[in-house]
Amino acid sequence: MVTRPLVFVGGRLIDGTGRPPVEDAAVLCESGLITWAGPRARLAAPPNADVIDVRSRTILPGFFDCHTHLTMRPGEGDALARLTAPQSLRVLQSVPNLRDTLLAGVTTVRDLSGADLGTKLAVERGLIRGPRVLIAIRILSITGGHGDWRSANGVDLTGGSGGGAVADGPDAFVRATRAVLQEGADCVKIAASGGMSSPRGEPAHGGLSAAEIEAVVTEAARHGDVAVAAHAQAGPGLRDAVRAGVRSIEHGYHLDDATIGEMVERGTFLVPTLSTLLREPEASDRRRWTGTARERLARAFAAGVPVALGTDAGLVPHGTNLRELELLVDFGLSPMAAIVAGTSAAARLCGVDGELGTVEPGKRADLVVADGDPLTRIGVLADPANIVLVLKDGQLEKDTAELFRAKEKTGSATV
Ligand SMILES: [Zn+2]
Repeated sequence: MVTRPLVFVGGRLIDGTGRPPVEDAAVLCESGLITWAGPRARLAAPPNADVIDVRSRTILPGFFDCHTHLTMRPGEGDALARLTAPQSLRVLQSVPNLRDTLLAGVTTVRDLSGADLGTKLAVERGLIRGPRVLIAIRILSITGGHGDWRSANGVDLTGGSGGGAVADGPDAFVRATRAVLQEGADCVKIAASGGMSSPRGEPAHGGLSAAEIEAVVTEAARHGDVAVAAHAQAGPGLRDAVRAGVRSIEHGYHLDDATIGEMVERGTFLVPTLSTLLREPEASDRRRWTGTARERLARAFAAGVPVALGTDAGLVPHGTNLRELELLVDFGLSPMAAIVAGTSAAARLCGVDGELGTVEPGKRADLVVADGDPLTRIGVLADPANIVLVLKDGQLEKDTAELFRAKEKTGSATV
């Protein structure tokens, strides 16, 4: 925790609310919290503050990635190699994944299977470096669904976190929901459809039935309004998940107009994971989906579905998470709307908007300082080299431009 008050002065502030930027801004941080933000000329800084000059740079909230798999890395081999890897290897490789994510400007992630309570606590306790971690632990799936990695001959590779929890029938899904919550899950992930990387089945195949999804949503809501995240790419699962009241649709590649309308009405979030949809090399099974996905997701964006940034990192490399902003803009969001998707909207999806997601008084001091102006060129945020400073809970996590070395004290500097 930085104990002396800290004031960033002179940069362009994009506060994450979607409001226009403030030029020549100041942001005051005290005891790990933001206590003031606005035009520098109006700041009355405390006398003993450290002053960090961020002139010609942009100050933003720490970003979110609402869909990661921290225990996974691309190029681990086939599904069999991944599923048979020692559990300790999977946990340990999340250490560099966490570090790279933080250095890319992401200060909060929601891990949608793989990371467990130990990883979350290790970051909280400062044993390893990383963004704060919210966890789903494992995906709840029907027999033969997207999260059922048992082979046809009965070999079960689903052990350990990251495997699915297989259930059938509403009562069994109530039990499965209680089980992940008992293990410390912050949200509940379900497989409402098949997927491109399913062990069997197609993206348009059904996952949990409407009654099973309702059972999960109702049970999760009884435990402190826990949100349900539905993996749903196409087919009836999209509609059923939205109607049952899930908080977010993950992927949503083939949303129809009626379901888009219902998402707008209900405020259901869409986490489109474009980084993974468009990853190279474009496999032929994926190419069939990308054209329609581009058209349907653009329609959902234009209709005003709330969008939150998520990458499915783990299938793509960790540490280039903010490339997703560029892809969101490519699919039709304005640069400002993409930044909102990665900050305040993501914080709302995760239920932490009271303390994170914007640069406003009372929020935790999670800040990013970037070279360049993302409103004219959103791609500057995609390159971690342009993220010159990361502050999390008021703690300095990255400072490649050595802005802290050049700091001055109020009184000696012109504030
Ligand atoms: Zn995923």
